[in-house]
Amino acid sequence: MGKFLEGRVVNSKCWTERFHSLQVEAPVEPFKAGQFGKVALEINGEMVFRPYSFVNAPHERPLEFYFITLENGPLTQRLIKLECGDPISGGDQGRSSGSQSRRAARRREISSHDMRKS
Ligand SMILES: Cc1cc2nc3c(=O)[nH]c(=O)nc-3n(C[C@H](O)[C@H](O)[C@H](O)COP(=O)(O)OP(=O)(O)OC[C@H]3O[C@@H](n4cnc5c(N)ncnc54)[C@H](O)[C@@H]3O)c2cc1C
Repeated sequence: MGKFLEGRVVNSKCWTERFHSLQVEAPVEPFKAGQFGKVALEINGEMVFRPYSFVNAPHERPLEFYFITLENGPLTQRLIKLECGDPISGGDQGRSSGSQSRRAARRREISSHDMRKS
């Protein structure tokens, strides 16, 4: 994973004992509906990151994602403790899963190859 983007939590909501959502302001790159980004926090001196699906429309801000809280989950146990204004990191925004992701990666590879040639 490349460099992390710095963002801030603007809303945190606990829906049920095991279901939580966060809204985040972060300077992410444009993405398409259905794509996911990575959310990261520094835990014990190490960046721990996991993929999450954004539920906001691509043109809407803040970014929003919902997650299930895992009892022994390193990241989710930290995410539920975040409050408004707390820093949060992210990266690799806009990637999609499966073959769509591989096709997009291949397109990026081809276009950067073409740019190097010109
Ligand atoms: C493409 C992609 C998109 C994702 N989008 C979301 C999302 O929008 N919301 C969300 O809640 N999670 C999502 N996940 C899962 C998420 O990335 C984390 O794995 C999850 O939040 C747990 O993180 P953790 O660090 O607390 O625990 P981890 O260390 O990631 O997981 C601990 C263990 O629990 C398992 N696990 C992970 N998630 C679940 C679950 N929901 N139920 C049961 N076991 C689980 C893992 O496989 C692992 O064995 C997505 C995963 C992928 C690959």
